[in-house]
Amino acid sequence: MEIDEPGDPFAAQISRVTGRNTVTGGRGLPKIAEMAITRQDGSIVEARLRALLSDDLGIAQFICEIGAGAFPYCPICFDGEADSREHVPPKPLGGIVMANTCSPCNNKLGSRTESALQDWFDDAVYTFYSQDGDPRPFGHSRVLNLQTPDGEWFQVQERPSNPENRLGSALVEGGVTMHLALPARAQYKTGLLKNAFLAACLHVGGVPMTASTAEIRAELVATRDARSRRDVQLGPRAEAIRAYRTGQPANGKPLALMRTDGVDKPRFLISLAGTILVEWPFPDVDPLRDRRGGPIPEPVAPMPALTPEEFA
Ligand SMILES: [Zn+2]
Repeated sequence: MEIDEPGDPFAAQISRVTGRNTVTGGRGLPKIAEMAITRQDGSIVEARLRALLSDDLGIAQFICEIGAGAFPYCPICFDGEADSREHVPPKPLGGIVMANTCSPCNNKLGSRTESALQDWFDDAVYTFYSQDGDPRPFGHSRVLNLQTPDGEWFQVQERPSNPENRLGSALVEGGVTMHLALPARAQYKTGLLKNAFLAACLHVGGVPMTASTAEIRAELVATRDARSRRDVQLGPRAEAIRAYRTGQPANGKPLALMRTDGVDKPRFLISLAGTILVEWPFPDVDPLRDRRGGPIPEPVAPMPALTPEEFA
């Protein structure tokens, strides 16, 4: 990647920013949802997080709320006492306590997956530099990808990472390479799978004993027991699950079953706090029939159709 010569710092002021930690932000927003920058010449650049809504998602229809529940055993490993309160989705993604698991499945599985899930949610990447003749990387920073209304990329470095200004002097010396690390896919997809699994089990009222749930539980336990985050392997169930982030703050029901009439066949989705839509994870379980509280009568009563942007 080519790097510009060092010059004056970007002469502009942040005139507005909305995100997770800002006063005007809402629960479950990404780190920066949108911002405006006033340049020295007075012109304003606006940029926002790119919502990830697939073209084939179509219109999503609300079917029913998925309520909180208490499992009599850990739904993931079946081993531990389910004495740990689980946010679904994780709290920074807008979630509230909805279920219970054992402490290892909550804490260890969380530590293996949730930081990458947050990166995916924030559309963050990591950058760092190296210089010829010196293998030690420097200048690490977390960078948020935003997009202007014209579709141009706009990157915000989250925190100053190079106080000694090594980058400036290195650029003068030359031989600098910039490195880019994307969010760890195995980790964030397994994190999405865990949230979809717990929400779907809450909907059913327990863990359905099917092939798909056994495979998902095996992937989650393997991730929990991985030696470190780097050792997390992407399993087939995590690989297959599709998820969409809405870029909106948490709203609506904490968890909800949705249906979208896709190109080939209807698909079921779970809304996680309105901030993420994830596919129904059990192909061998019918969410209309197998439901805590009884089947949903067919046809589903028509509800006002909502576009993903609206319900999110
Ligand atoms: Zn467990």
